[in-house]
Amino acid sequence: MKEIVKDVYHVGDSGCSVFLVNTKSDDGLVLIDCGMSLNMIKRISKYNLNPLDIKHCIITHFHIDHIAICAELKEFNKKIKYYAHELDADAIEEPGYEKETAASWYGVRYTPVKLERRLTGKKEILKFGSYEFQCLHIPGHTPGSIAILLELSDPKVKILFGQDLHGPIIPGVSDYDNYQESLKLVRDLEADILCEGHFGIFQPASKVKEYINQYIK
Ligand SMILES: [Zn+2]
Ligand SMILES: [Zn+2]
Repeated sequence: MKEIVKDVYHVGDSGCSVFLVNTKSDDGLVLIDCGMSLNMIKRISKYNLNPLDIKHCIITHFHIDHIAICAELKEFNKKIKYYAHELDADAIEEPGYEKETAASWYGVRYTPVKLERRLTGKKEILKFGSYEFQCLHIPGHTPGSIAILLELSDPKVKILFGQDLHGPIIPGVSDYDNYQESLKLVRDLEADILCEGHFGIFQPASKVKEYINQYIK
């Protein structure tokens, strides 16, 4: 667990990197993906954050390393609400997508969960407390992948949660041309900090750009 900027945390890595924002409001704590270990999430209590205060979890895409513990987390904390893009929603809400989610490849049994809301279109804003989570559709890695942009005023930084910007391109699931277009879209956001799903946290803006550019052909 590490604070990236005030009230924005890297919870840890289990399958993917899991990030958390403390909205200090009735909307409580917001997770970006939940990964594969409930114990890791429970450990936020060591940092004076109550895992039962997690009210929302924005899912960046349907891969199992990002969603494995959704049902377990919901069992532990009934208040949590999930959000994902409509084009990835069926695989999260319904059984029978073990191949697409890579659950079968990981040897993990996935229990579907209901979404509070299916995000649609190119951009939707989820407002929790005073935070506006800009959910940007970045198809390619999966059809309904999203990146999440937070523009903070104190400190004044743009944080981009771009979970699987590295890919990979998976036959039958990914679309290479869309992926390339999406990479350009996120690069041009000129974020100051990039929280990636598997390769760490990049800053300042020049490092973010450099990281994303390496995947653009
Ligand atoms: Zn993925
Ligand atoms: Zn991933």
